[in-house]
Amino acid sequence: MLRSKICLCLTAPTLEQDVKLVEKYKNWIDLVELRVDCLNQDQQLLIREFPKMIDLPAILTIRRKSDGGNYTQGEGARTVLFAKGLSFATLDQKKNFAYIDMEEDFSIPSLEEAARAFGTRIIRSVHNISAPITNISELVKTIPHSSDEICKIAFMPKTLSDVTNLYREAKKIKNQDVILIAMGHYGVSTRILASKLGSLLTFTSPKQEDLIFTNKEFQEASSLQSPNSDSLKNETQTSAAPGQLDPITLSEVYNFKSINKDTKVFGVTGFPLAATKSPLIHNIGYREKGIDAVYIPIPAATPQDALNFAEELNITGLSVTVPHKETIRPYLSQISEVADAIGSTNTVMKQDNLWYGTNTDATGFSKALIEFLGKKNLRFCKVAIIGAGGAAKAVANAIRELGGKACIFNRTVEKAKELALQYKFKWAELSPQNNYILEKYSNLIIQTTSIGMTPKEDADPIPFYTFKGTESLFDVIYEPAETKLMKRAKESGCKTTNGYRMLIHQGTLQFKLYTGVDYPPLEGLSI
Ligand code: NAP
Repeated sequence: MLRSKICLCLTAPTLEQDVKLVEKYKNWIDLVELRVDCLNQDQQLLIREFPKMIDLPAILTIRRKSDGGNYTQGEGARTVLFAKGLSFATLDQKKNFAYIDMEEDFSIPSLEEAARAFGTRIIRSVHNISAPITNISELVKTIPHSSDEICKIAFMPKTLSDVTNLYREAKKIKNQDVILIAMGHYGVSTRILASKLGSLLTFTSPKQEDLIFTNKEFQEASSLQSPNSDSLKNETQTSAAPGQLDPITLSEVYNFKSINKDTKVFGVTGFPLAATKSPLIHNIGYREKGIDAVYIPIPAATPQDALNFAEELNITGLSVTVPHKETIRPYLSQISEVADAIGSTNTVMKQDNLWYGTNTDATGFSKALIEFLGKKNLRFCKVAIIGAGGAAKAVANAIRELGGKACIFNRTVEKAKELALQYKFKWAELSPQNNYILEKYSNLIIQTTSIGMTPKEDADPIPFYTFKGTESLFDVIYEPAETKLMKRAKESGCKTTNGYRMLIHQGTLQFKLYTGVDYPPLEGLSI
């Protein structure tokens, strides 16, 4: 097997809408899966025509509710639908379904014979949509009804350990065509690393906005039908299965088509690890530098789970984010001086078979600040650090290194004091009464609280402070790209920046640590 194929799951209510999706994504996909269980009932009668309507191989799937689909009409009706999909097969195989998905407990010999006779390959599947499947290497020997079938196993992991087990089990599978998927948030790596797993294909969904478009059209169409129609679907139905990525992200963020058995894996761990820009930063770097590596999200509830996963996949560089930056410490054999000073580890590496931790946030911030201010040190600069959480610890360390004098303001004043004492800075409670102190430390204001991340009206950590227009404001938040505070400062004539360059620099520093190669010049890269 060269590489896994990318399959787009089609879950629109009409064949015409499915064809539109195929057209839109055809440059990024190798085949499609027609989810007949998502089609309106009148459209289900027309499925035999579908392979002739597109230019790609198609899987015929009628997924039952119990397996995570929408089909509720019983096995008799489902058998008739399968027969419809296989009927009038032609010798031109492109006009037939290339594959048919039949579950392990579904056995209709006449259908199977009909499929084989005209070159439609059977995918024999097992789904557990609520719990993990563990004995995978044994199951692949017993699930297929005959040796020419592809064995598909899809399950819902409860923890990252269930996913780690899938990789362990996959290594034991020999000479058997398989499709292996861990669904949901924990299973996202299996969607990206299908080629490493030896999975014949990975399933993808259209981007959310294309599915909303589909559903809008569907709502209009369905409003013309009887409200009792069985074909009415849930308006909020989106991806075909939990955890699927869209084909464009898979190709362009994760370089899917260049991943093979030998591709080196790096990643970022945290929980819940909802949206992370780190894969984009690292994967662009590998592509530019021609490094055979991929960087993936690794959601893990505990640092131990993350490190076990890393051991199984031979990952030697792991970025760490909330909430594991502090809690990963006991699992590491050694940490750097800066990680020790900041009390937080965002970078973990395997060296001489031991885990070593360091922190690139402080240097990343420092680099971004120097770019922003256009000067290399903060002598004669009085700095206000707003907040005393994890980001503030990295910021305080960098300000000390750059020779600035700072005062730390925080809602919980004890935390401000503890951090300030470490660097011989001043501290104060974040409150209107201390506005006069803030004014004294206002050459450079560095905002490190999380308040500005929300679109709320009161998302301003220093509403009592009036900008004079001479201050420089660095807000470490990067989403939104402009916080309420930044907007207010800018309107008063201040120079402002957000935390995006800090994020990029901490990532490029990790890139060098993980690969030994300098990150490519940032100019011209679309990150
Ligand atoms: P954290 O450790 O949880 O600290 C949160 C800080 O915000 C604390 O100082 C906390 O004050 C303060 N805070 C939260 N809600 C508040 C409220 N309603 N009123 C007043 N103060 C409030 O979080 P973190 O890891 O430092 O992250 C903070 C922000 O920095 C996040 O937006 C994160 O995305 C961003 N960040 C950016 C980068 C980057 O590369 N650009 C890197 C790291 C973090 P108390 O101590 O009183 O609770």
